[in-house]
Amino acid sequence: MSELPRITDLTQAGFRELAETHGIRPFRGDQAYEWVMKKGVRRPDDMSNLPKPFRDVLRTNLDCEDPIVEWSDDSRTTTDKLYMRLPDGDGVEAVLICEGRRTTVCLSSQVGCPVGCTFCASGLLGLRRNLSAGEILDQFIELRKRTRALERRISNVVMMGMGEPLLNYDAVVHALQVLNDPKAGGIGARHITVSTIGLGKGVKRLAQEGKQYTLAFSLHAPDDETRSELIPFPGTLSIAELMDAAHEYLRDTGREVTFEYVLLEGVNASARHAKQLADLLKGVRCTVNLIPYNENPGLSFRRPTPGAIDRFEAILRSRRIKVAVRKRKGHKILAACGQLRLRARRATSAE
Ligand code: SAH
Ligand code: SF4
Repeated sequence: MSELPRITDLTQAGFRELAETHGIRPFRGDQAYEWVMKKGVRRPDDMSNLPKPFRDVLRTNLDCEDPIVEWSDDSRTTTDKLYMRLPDGDGVEAVLICEGRRTTVCLSSQVGCPVGCTFCASGLLGLRRNLSAGEILDQFIELRKRTRALERRISNVVMMGMGEPLLNYDAVVHALQVLNDPKAGGIGARHITVSTIGLGKGVKRLAQEGKQYTLAFSLHAPDDETRSELIPFPGTLSIAELMDAAHEYLRDTGREVTFEYVLLEGVNASARHAKQLADLLKGVRCTVNLIPYNENPGLSFRRPTPGAIDRFEAILRSRRIKVAVRKRKGHKILAACGQLRLRARRATSAE
C-alpha cells in the first residue's frame, strides 16, 4: 500500500509547485495536470511530451498506479456501476447512466455516511472515512474511460453516491473545480449537481465559490417532524432555514435549487403530504425531484404504488410546482446508494 499521495490528488498549482521545487519549469506541471485530468493518463512514462527528469519526479513523489476497479456485470443495460477498492481495504461505488443524449455520472464523496438517514443503505454503515479529492476524481476518470469506449461524452456529474458531500467540503470542492476546468473534466458548473441534506455553513460556502453549481436539497418531507425522523442528524437545516437557503443560493449564484423528495409509502407520500409540500413551496423558485424509493433488503420502507406516485405528482403540478419524477432506469441504479458496497462487504466477509 503506497504512502504517497495519489497523482489525482494534486491541483494544477500542486503540479506546478512540484515541478518548480525540482528545478523544472512550471509549465511542465500544467502539462502533467492535463495528462492526468484531461487524458486520463497517469503513468509518467506515457506522458510523451514531458522531459525524463520530471517524469522521474512524478514517479517518485506520487502514487501513479491505476485504481483497482470492479465493474458490475450487467452489460445488458446502459447503466454501469463501478466499485473502486481503496488501499485500506474498503471501497466506494460510482455509476454511469446513459439516457438518450445525456450521460450522467454519479460519484461518492465518503466511505459510508455519518448522517444515518433511516431509509438509506449508506447511512446504515456509518462513516468509515472521507475520500480525498483524487479518490473522487478517480471515479470520474474511470467512468470517463468507459464512456469514451461507448463513444459518448459525460454531460452531467451528480454527487449522489455514498456520503454527504458538504461534510467533506474541501476535497469535494477541489474535485468539483477540476471537473469544471476546461483543461481537465470540462463539465459546465450547471451540469454539476451537489446533493445535500442541507448544512448551513457548507451551503453558504458553496454559494460563495463563484460557480453556478446545481444545488439539490434532500427535503423528503413537508414538515420538520417527519423530516427529522428520516434524517436524524443534528446539524441539518430546518425546513424554514432550507427555504431561506434556497433564496440565498438563487440570489448569490442565479441558480434555482432542486428539492429531492424520496417517496416512501405510508411515511411521506399521501395526498395530504403533496398538498402540504405544494403550500410550502408556493412562491419558491425551484424544481421538485420525486424519487420513488428503491427498496433495500433489510429496511422496512416501501415504494408507493405507481398510482400513488402519479397522484402525488399531479397534485404538485396542479398547484404549479415544477416537478420531475426520476425515471425508472436512472432512479433504480442511482438510488442504489451504498448497496453495491454492502454486497461487496458481505461477499468479502463470507470468504
Ligand atoms: N448525502 C446526500 C447525497 C447522496 S444521497 C443526500 O442525502 O442528499 C442522494 C439522494 O439519494 C438523496 O436524495 C437520498 O435521499 C436518495 N436516496 C438514498 N437512498 C435511497 C433509496 N434507497 N431510494 C431512493 N433514494 C434514495
Ligand atoms: Fe447519507 Fe445521503 Fe444516505 Fe442520508 S441519504 S445517509 S445523507 S448518503
